Parts: sequence; C-alpha cells; structure tokens
Amino acid sequence: MTLEDLKFQCMNCNKCPLCKTRDNIVFGEGVSDADVLIIGEGPGANEDREGRPFVGRSGKLLDEVMNEVGLSREKNVYIANMVKCRPPENRDPKPAEKEQCIDYLKAQIEIINPKIIVCLGRVSASYFLGKDFKVTKDHGKFYEIDGRKITATFHPAAILRNINQKPLFLEDFQKIKKEI
Ligand code: URA
Repeated sequence: MTLEDLKFQCMNCNKCPLCKTRDNIVFGEGVSDADVLIIGEGPGANEDREGRPFVGRSGKLLDEVMNEVGLSREKNVYIANMVKCRPPENRDPKPAEKEQCIDYLKAQIEIINPKIIVCLGRVSASYFLGKDFKVTKDHGKFYEIDGRKITATFHPAAILRNINQKPLFLEDFQKIKKEI
C-alpha cells in the first residue's frame, strides 16, 4: 500500500457525515519517508478549498517556524490531520468522526514510519497521549508509545491568538529537530 493508494481510498470515503459537506479531502502533504509526521486537528475552510493541509494563516506560521529550524514539507516533514474532511464551522471533530477516520492516519503512520510524531494542539495530543494531557503544561516533552517517539506542541492557531507563546513554540521545534 502506498500513500497514493490510501489517498484514493480517502477520496471515495463516505464513512461519516463530513463527506457530505466537504469540497475536498485533505489527505496530507510532505515527503513520503519524512523524519517528522505532524498531526493537526482537521481541515479548515482554506484547506477544504485547496485540498492541502495548513495553507491558511496558521499554516504560514507553522511553515515559518519549521523553516527556522531546518524542517519543511519539501524536505523532511509530512503533515496530516486527525480527520481528512472539514468539520463545519471549524468545530472540533466528533468522537465518531475521529473513530471512522483514524485508520487512514494509522496507515499513514505505518507507511511513512517517521522518527517522531508531533501532535499539534489538544485534539491530536489527547488522542495519542491521553485525555489528561495538557498542551500548556506538557508541550515539548518526548514520550515513547508502541516504539514510536511522540511529542506535542501548541496548535499554531493558538499561537496566533496568543503571540507571547511563539518563543515556546519555536523552542519545541528546535528540540524536535535536535531529536531526529
Ligand atoms: N488546522 C488544522 O488542524 N489542520 C489544518 O490542516 C488546518 C488548520
């Protein structure tokens, strides 16, 4: 199975109601043997329109901070989301939607086999690191789960709302780069 095969499956997916309101699936983007797999929450309006992850304002910030430490989607990163279709009004994905979608993400993890998984924000961090995980307290710490290195940092949209935390966000990415 390749990422292309899996993307094709996703494009035909109608397992949950998000398929009815999507314009495009947002499968993911980056290098297929990435060192770092970044996992966001779900596509927003811009992503739904373009079919690409993190292309809006928070994506610009993410690219800027990654570039600063020598990471990029062109070179060593793959970016995916917990759900591949946009939740309407940018609400959190519902548990049933995450449940229906998670096998696609698990397959992406297997194919890409990254050195580190990076959860961006509460939605993906609580899935991988437990519902008591607090991004504000535990960001930048490294864990090992099922033999995979995993960490979490702020969602870039949260940094845009509170720009004072940008140095912490950058610091987490510096640690990630050092760790690979
Ligand atoms: N926010 C996310 O969590 N993912 C995207 O792809 C875009 C914005």
